[in-house]
Amino acid sequence: MSQFTEKYNIHTHSFYCGHGSGTIRQYAEEAERQGLELLGFSEHCPFPDSFLQRSRMAFDQMRVYEEDVRRVQAESGVKIILGYECDYFPRYRSFFEDLKASGRVDYLITGTHFIIRADSSRVSPFSDKLDSDDILRYRDQMLAALDTGLFDFIAHPDLFMAGYWTWDDRAVRIAEEIIAASMKHGTPLEVNANGLQKPKVAGRDPYPFGPFFELAGEKGAPVILSTDAHKVSNLVCNKDRIEAFAAEHGLSLIRPVYKTGRLEWAL
Ligand SMILES: [Zn+2]
Ligand SMILES: [Zn+2]
Repeated sequence: MSQFTEKYNIHTHSFYCGHGSGTIRQYAEEAERQGLELLGFSEHCPFPDSFLQRSRMAFDQMRVYEEDVRRVQAESGVKIILGYECDYFPRYRSFFEDLKASGRVDYLITGTHFIIRADSSRVSPFSDKLDSDDILRYRDQMLAALDTGLFDFIAHPDLFMAGYWTWDDRAVRIAEEIIAASMKHGTPLEVNANGLQKPKVAGRDPYPFGPFFELAGEKGAPVILSTDAHKVSNLVCNKDRIEAFAAEHGLSLIRPVYKTGRLEWAL
């Protein structure tokens, strides 16, 4: 069994997302078995107009998911929190503001899974090769999300390097800008273990991307660790490896603490 010391995971997907498996209750039981102290559910947030529907639950499923998590939360021996992982686009700003203010969720994550090009087509760092214009847009979308102050941390901030295979001046600058924005807003960066299970790109893991986090380590940016599990057996998968990655890159790890109705960060 793998050894790990960070006893939380607040980036978790279940069957609700449509490309994952496992029930909320099964995850809660696994968290208890693995000795986690805090478990957060962060399903991909649907949009009111069904944008990006293929990668997330239907909009009218939200309440079902939320009630399910609240029910298990009330019964579990592990502290459980409820959130969403949000692709942010400015036209949905008021939707996310209302969601955050509604009291229905404990936290929100932002992650940029899709890049909208000038001609309105979209590409994804998960499946497409990105050009130097795409990674500028990735940066712009991410910085716009951070500017709202709505999001508690940044999922796989280095994801652009999964589709952009050259660590050139532009890539370095974009990494520096994302890291600087994270520090300015006090919004932690995430080292995401799910990339370790994906096919390699350019002979390396698509993410986490070492040179990005080397910069984050140098700057002293706050970092959290997630498995981004999409099935129960992955809840703590590779936690030991990302902890070693964090140590190797001199990262300033913080950990989530949920109290007084909000997510906070502790050293
Ligand atoms: Zn997913
Ligand atoms: Zn995720």
